[in-house]
Amino acid sequence: MDYYRHSFEKVFAQLKSSKKGLSTKEAKKRLEKYGRNVFSEEKKIPYLRLFLRQFNNPLVWVLFAAVLISLFIQHYVDAIVILIILVFNACFGFFQEYKAEKAVQLLQKLREHKSRVLRDGKEVEILSDQLVPGDVLILAEGDTVPADCRIITCSSCKFDEASLTGESKPVGKIVTSLRSKVALADQKNMVFAGTTLVRGKARVVVVATGKKTELGKIASEIQEIKEEMTPLQKRLKEIGRWLTILTLGVSVLVFVLGLLRGFDLFEIFLTAVSLAVAAIPEGLPAVVTVTLALGLRHMLKRKALIRKLRSVETLGSVTVICSDKTGTITKNEMTVTKLFSGFLAYSVTGSGYAPSGKILRGKKDAAKDVSDLLLVAASCNDATLDVGDPTERALQVLARKGAVNSVKRVSEVPFSSEAKFMSVTDAEGVTYLKGAVEVVLEKCSYVLDKGKKRLLTEKDKKVILKQNASYSQEALRVLAFASGKRGKLTFLGLAGMIDPPRDEVKSAISLCRQAGIRTVMITGDHAMTAQAVAKKVGLKGKVLTGLELDKLSDAALQKIVSSVSIYARVSSLHKVRILRSLQANGEIVAMTGDGVNDAPALKQANVGVAMNLKGTEISKDVSHLILLDDNFATIVAAVEEGRVVYGNIKKFVQFLLAANFGEVVLVLFSVVTGLPLPLLPVQILWVNLVTDSFPALALGVDPADPGVMKQKPRDPKESFFAGIKSFMFFATLLSAVVTIGLFLWYSSFASLDKARTVTFTALILFELFLVFSCRSQIRSLFRLRHNTWLYAAVAFSFALHLLLLYTPLAQFFSLEPLLLRDWMIIVPLSAVGLLFFELKKVLFRKKVQ
Ligand code: ATP
Repeated sequence: MDYYRHSFEKVFAQLKSSKKGLSTKEAKKRLEKYGRNVFSEEKKIPYLRLFLRQFNNPLVWVLFAAVLISLFIQHYVDAIVILIILVFNACFGFFQEYKAEKAVQLLQKLREHKSRVLRDGKEVEILSDQLVPGDVLILAEGDTVPADCRIITCSSCKFDEASLTGESKPVGKIVTSLRSKVALADQKNMVFAGTTLVRGKARVVVVATGKKTELGKIASEIQEIKEEMTPLQKRLKEIGRWLTILTLGVSVLVFVLGLLRGFDLFEIFLTAVSLAVAAIPEGLPAVVTVTLALGLRHMLKRKALIRKLRSVETLGSVTVICSDKTGTITKNEMTVTKLFSGFLAYSVTGSGYAPSGKILRGKKDAAKDVSDLLLVAASCNDATLDVGDPTERALQVLARKGAVNSVKRVSEVPFSSEAKFMSVTDAEGVTYLKGAVEVVLEKCSYVLDKGKKRLLTEKDKKVILKQNASYSQEALRVLAFASGKRGKLTFLGLAGMIDPPRDEVKSAISLCRQAGIRTVMITGDHAMTAQAVAKKVGLKGKVLTGLELDKLSDAALQKIVSSVSIYARVSSLHKVRILRSLQANGEIVAMTGDGVNDAPALKQANVGVAMNLKGTEISKDVSHLILLDDNFATIVAAVEEGRVVYGNIKKFVQFLLAANFGEVVLVLFSVVTGLPLPLLPVQILWVNLVTDSFPALALGVDPADPGVMKQKPRDPKESFFAGIKSFMFFATLLSAVVTIGLFLWYSSFASLDKARTVTFTALILFELFLVFSCRSQIRSLFRLRHNTWLYAAVAFSFALHLLLLYTPLAQFFSLEPLLLRDWMIIVPLSAVGLLFFELKKVLFRKKVQ
C-alpha cells in the first residue's frame, strides 16, 4: 500500500491501530508475526570455527608436520608432548579471542537504540528493535527515525534525509495525503528509517519495520559495522609483523648454524620451529582487545559508556576537556530565586521543583504584581512541572507559585541555542517571548514600569543590563520576558535562577590540573554567570564571548585558544572552531555536546562526549563516549581508566617481548658458540605456555597506579617503546647471562639433562619474577596495590612447572630431579632481574628527589 497517498486515519484503519497506539498484547503478537525491527540478524560466535582457527597458522602446520615426522621416526614422546602443547596453546588462543568477540558484542549491545511509543495509551520507552507496524511513535528533536512511518502530527519539523536520498539540506514535512505516485524524496508525509529529526517534534505511525523498510530494502545485506582496529592495535600488529620476520630470520639462522655444527637434523629443525612458535607473539592483538574490553567494563561501572574500543585508548592521551556548563558542570536543577520586574526586585521562596513557595516583595506576598511575567513563564514553555527542560520546569514552578496558568498557543518559534529565545503566539495574536536578556531587549519597544507600560529608553536598557550583570555575578542564570502584539512587545522583567555546581566537579577539575589536562567551559550562558560558576568550581583563566570569537581570524584564535578557559554566549557552531584551533595546536580534545547542532563537533573531537540524560539521540549516535550521569567528573574517571588500560597494555607487551628475547638469545648463543642445545624443543614450547599466558594476561588487569593522574598526558605520537627500551635491553641481557651461565656451569660437572633442567627452570623462574618488575618503571613493587590475579597466575604457572619436575611427566621432557641445593642456586639467580630493576627504581627515585 502507498501509505503516503492516504489520510493518516485510513492508514490507521489499514494497520488496525489508532492515535492511542497499540496494546502491549497486540504489539507482542505483531512482533511474532513481523519479526524484530533489525536490518540483519545477530551472528552467534561459531565456537568450533573459532577453536579451529587457532590452528590456522603456518608455524602450527610446521609443528604438525614435526609431530608426523616424530611418529614416523618413532619419537612417540616428542609427538605426544608437542601435540598436547599445541592443543593447550589453541585453547588459550581460543579463550582470548572468545573474550575479545564477547567484548565487541557487548559494544553492539550497549549501542542499543530506544524509542518513545504509545502502548496501552501511555507513553513508554522501548528498545527500537521491538517496534511493530501500527505503533505510534513520538519523535523529538535529534531522534533518529527507527522505522518507516506515516506522519500524524508535526510542528515546524525538519528531517535530515541525506543518508537515504542524498539531499543535504533538512526537509520539511506535511500531514496531508498526496494524490499521485511520487518518488521517495517527495513523499512529504512519510519519514524513513535512518533519517534524523533535526528540528521540531512529530508524532508518526510505524508502517514498515526491519528489512521491509526502504533502508532495509536497499541494504538488506547491511552487515553490523565491524569494529575498526584501534591505532594501538594497528601499531602492535606492525610490531608483531617485524618480530615475526626477525624471529623467522633467527630460526633459520639457528637451523643453518645447527646443521653446520653437525646437530641432528630433526632435533635442530624442531628447535628452530619451536623457537619461532614461542617467540612470535601471535596472540597480541587479541590480548589487546581483551584488555581494552576490560577497560570498557571498568568505565561502564564508573558511568562512562564507551561506544568505540579505540576511544578507551584515545581517552588516555586527552590533553583538554571542553565541557558544557549546564547539566555537566552544574546539576541542572534550576530554581528561580529572584525576579526583577517593573524596576522592582522580588524574591522567590521554596527550592527545587516542588511548587510550594511564595513570590515576595520585601515580606509581602506580591505574586499579583508580576502576573504578566508569570503568564509568559507558563505559556512560552514546553515543560510541565515534572518533565521537560530544567530551565522551563523551573519557570512552570515559578508560575505555579503565583497561581498563573498558561494560554493556548496557535504557533511557536522553538528555542535554539543559536537564536537564544523562544516565543509562542495565542489565538488573539499576542506573542509571549522569553530568552537571553540582550536578545529580548532588542525585540522590545515598551517596558513595564511599576505596573504601567511606557516606551523603552536607552537608559532603561542600561538599568536592566546592570541588573542582569549583578544577577550573573551571583552565578544566577538569567532569562528575560516580554509579551505583546507583534512589533509592539513590552519588556516585562528578568528571572534569576540558581543551578548549583555538582559536588564532585571541583575535585575533578583539580585532578585534571594535576594530570596535565586543561578544563575549558563552553556555554551559551552569560559571560558573568559562566565566570561566577567557574570560580565556584575552581576554574581560572580568560573569558571569550561568542561575539569576540566571531571577530577573530582562525590564526588569531589559534594563538589565544590555549589561554582561554571560558567561552560564553557561544553556540554549537563556535564549538567546531574552538575544537579545530585546539587540535591545530596539537591538543587531544574531549568535547561534550547534547543538541542536534553539536553533532559535527562531537564527530570531530578526538573524544566526542554525549549526555545520556539530556542528550539528543543524534548526539549519542555520533559520540565516542556517553556519560550515563551527564557528569563532568565521569569524563575524568574515563580518562583515568584510559590511562590505566594503555599502561597495562604496555606492561604486558614489555613482558612478553623481554621474555621472548631472553629465550631467543639463549638458543642463538649456543648454536653460534657451538654449545649443545641448552633447551629441548618441547621445553621451549613449555616455557612459552606457562609464562606467556596467564601471567601476561594478569598484567592486563593490573590495578591503577596511585600516581596515574599525576603524570602528564601521553603524547599519541610517542613511540610505543618510549620508557621501556632500557628495561627490555637489561631484562634480555640479564636473562641470557643467568641462563647461559648456569648452563655452562652445570655442564661442567653434571649431565646434559641436568644442566638443561636447571636452565629450563631458571628461565621460567626468571620470567615469573620479571613479571613483577613490569608493573611499574618508577614505583617500588612494595608501594603498588595488590594484583591478586597476578599472584594467582604466577603461583599457577610455578605449580605447573613443579608438576612437570616431580611427577612421571618429567621423563617426557627429559628432566632430572632438582635437589634443594640446586634450588638454592637457581632461585636467587633467577631473581637477579627483579632485584636489579627494584634497585634501579630506588636509585632513580633518589636522583629525582
Ligand atoms: P550550556 O551550553 O552550558 O548547556 P546553556 O544551557 O546556558 O549552557 P543554551 O541552552 O544554549 O546554553 O542557552 C543559552 C541562553 O539561552 C541561556 O543563557 C538563556 O538566556 C537562553 N535560554 C536557555 N534556555 C531557554 C529556553 N528554554 N527558552 C528561552 N531561552 C532560553
